[in-house]
Amino acid sequence: MKKIIVAIDGHSSCGKSTMAKMLARRVGYIYVDTGAMYRAVALFALRHGFISEGRVDAAALEAAMPQVEVAFRLGADGLPRTLLCGEDVEDAIRTLEVSAAVSPVAALPFVRAAMTSQQQAMGKEGGIVMDGRDIGTAVFPHAQLKIFVTASAEVRAQRRYDELTAKGQTVTYDDILKNVRERDYIDSHREVAPLRQAPDALLLDNSTLSIDEQNAWLLARFNEATHED
Ligand code: C5P
Repeated sequence: MKKIIVAIDGHSSCGKSTMAKMLARRVGYIYVDTGAMYRAVALFALRHGFISEGRVDAAALEAAMPQVEVAFRLGADGLPRTLLCGEDVEDAIRTLEVSAAVSPVAALPFVRAAMTSQQQAMGKEGGIVMDGRDIGTAVFPHAQLKIFVTASAEVRAQRRYDELTAKGQTVTYDDILKNVRERDYIDSHREVAPLRQAPDALLLDNSTLSIDEQNAWLLARFNEATHED
């Protein structure tokens, strides 16, 4: 069976990575979370003091970009963990502080250029499920299966709230809803590779779907895409 590229794009916190991971595991593909890569760059910028009051010192970050090494390693549970300059930052990139910093960082053209070329190298052999905001439009415009996922901002904020509080983080639903809306706005309005549905992407609104239902939907689309020529 041919090994294809599956591009899963959509709004923040809509469950893209949950379904992408499930599909990759089920069909034996590599899973790449491109949001984690942008989060790692944002964490790097925060740690180096390149972000203050929500403003990124783009010149300082650009000068330091050659030091930013983002990679993945498989954890004991078989899921990828994000490495920043060799350090496991999988938990550190999932805080609300990083979520608040990431969209302005991801809007910078030199950051996108660096991450996009790494992502293209990771997927060039196919057999990959990649999720993000611009995979079907900019990274792999010829991906054989493209999905665009969305859900209402309130549903997405509730899911993210449940996820972070389950991990023991102290957050409020209102702060998360505000962050989800801000990221939607910045991601859709930036100049380079803005978040939008590719014309040939299949739309999935999962506001009222369970995880099992969305997984079944995605697997059915994958089977259709790999069985026809
Ligand atoms: O998917 P996740 O919510 O972890 O992504 C974090 C942020 O990274 C997004 O809000 C967006 O600003 C940025 N991003 C991006 N392009 C991608 C993936 C993520 O700009 N392909």
